[in-house]
Formats: sequence, structure tokens, C-alpha cells
Amino acid sequence: MSRHQGIGMTSQRTRDRLITRLEREGIKSIEVLDAMRAIPRHIFVDEALASRAYEDTALPIGFSQTISQPYVVAKMTEVLLLSGPLNKVLEIGTGSGYQAAILALLAKEVYSIERIEALLRQARARFQELKLRNIRLKFDDGTVGWPEYGPYDGIIATAAPLEVPMPLLEQLTLGGRLIIPIGKQGVQNLMLYTRTHEGVEEEFIEQVSFVPMLSGQKR
Ligand code: SAH
Repeated sequence: MSRHQGIGMTSQRTRDRLITRLEREGIKSIEVLDAMRAIPRHIFVDEALASRAYEDTALPIGFSQTISQPYVVAKMTEVLLLSGPLNKVLEIGTGSGYQAAILALLAKEVYSIERIEALLRQARARFQELKLRNIRLKFDDGTVGWPEYGPYDGIIATAAPLEVPMPLLEQLTLGGRLIIPIGKQGVQNLMLYTRTHEGVEEEFIEQVSFVPMLSGQKR
């Protein structure tokens, strides 16, 4: 049996239960729920944790990093999609690759930056296994964004800086959205920044807890 089909704790039934839970928690976008039903989250964690992959919790992925909680992935993706279909999306913090895989089903092109090389390598292998071909990866410090392919109509940061990095705002299209947790380790404010004719609009979404956004690269 392939790892995709799964048995018991990774079966389609277990996966559907997570979707029902996300709906109950307030996720309304059918596109987002469908994408989360389609991408097998257990592929993105260590085999020893596969049985917990469809619980609504963050899980360790090594190097002191975590795969985000499914509810938070769904919420951030839903907020990004509010302005309509996505053409180009940039993610800061590839991590396990799970968030990027969800985005790959909803956006034409996904760009994702990770500062830990080993994580990037694992994520790349998972995208190949799932035949996701519209994700381009970069080993770098993502606080400066990825200007070569910008501007983006959506940018999502899955690690928390203390302040919003200006290059990310600058790489948004007009009407483009940046969703990013801001604040100290422990609890942060999930913020939405929308680029408008007048400048940038700011909106608080909810409180979250992400790993910190760090500078530099790690081989
Ligand atoms: N989106 C990921 C979440 C991983 S946790 C997932 O779905 O699994 C956040 C990730 O951000 C970590 O892998 C961490 O190494 C990375 N990160 C932290 N600071 C970064 C930076 N400045 N540039 C790029 N990646 C960064």
C-alpha cells in the first residue's frame, strides 16, 4: 500500500474528520477545505508522527521547527484568497512544505523560501512525490523576499518577525495581501496587510504562535 492511501490513523476517513473540524472552527472557503482534503499531511511529518498528522496541532519537524497547525494553515490561506484567485504567491518559511503544497492547488505559481537547507531538501522530495510542479524553492533568508519573481498577489509568512519586513510589502501587487504573524516568541498577532492606492491597510486577524523569523542561512 502506498504511503498516500494510508491505513487507520492516516485513512481518508481520519482525514475527512479533520476537514469537518476545520469547518466547525469557522473555515468557510470550499477551495481551501478541498485543498486540505486533497493534500495528505502525513507525508509532511516524520513517519513516527504520521498517526498524529490529522490532529489539529502543530508537530515537530526537526531543527526546532514545526509544521503549522491545520486550522492556522486553513485560516491564513482563506484570508489570502479573499481578494480572488491567486496568480503568484510567495511563502517565507517552507518548513515541511505543507503550506506550500496547499497553496500549489490554489495558486498558479508558488515561490517559497527556507533558511534551513535540510528542510528545503525534504520539502522538495515531497513535492516530487506528490507531483506538485508549480512550486519554486529558494535556500535563503526570506526577510528580503524574492524580488526577481515579484510582485506577488499574496505573500504568507509562516515564521514571526518582530516587525513587518518592508521588502515584503514592497513586493505586493496593488490589491495584494501579506499575511504574517508579528511579535515575540510565544504569542503573536496574525496581521493582514493589503496594498492599496493610498498605501498599506492593516488588519488584525487573530492571535497565533509561530516559531521566530530568524536572519541568515543554515547548512
Ligand atoms: N510553512 C511551514 C511552517 C514551518 S515553521 C510548514 O507548513 O511546515 C517556519 C519555518 O520558517 C521554519 O522552517 C524556519 O526555518 C523558517 N524560517 C524562519 N526564519 C526564516 C527566514 N528568515 N527565511 C526563511 N525561512 C525562515
